[in-house]
Amino acid sequence: MTTRRCLNCGDTMQSFLRLTDDERAHVATRVHAEDVDKYRRCGNGTCLRVQNYFNWDQGFDLPPSFR
Ligand SMILES: [Zn+2]
Repeated sequence: MTTRRCLNCGDTMQSFLRLTDDERAHVATRVHAEDVDKYRRCGNGTCLRVQNYFNWDQGFDLPPSFR
């Protein structure tokens, strides 16, 4: 699996996973509609960061309820 830089994980390389429906709905409130499908979530297991798969510095944290 391809990895990407995750700033939340100490700027280490992490696998980024496709969004669930709930995650996707939240991301859709934060980014342009045409970009939602580019977003992936850090696969670390506890990390809340979602980011543009093609641009690691475009991203943000999901709310704690997604932990
Ligand atoms: Zn992470």
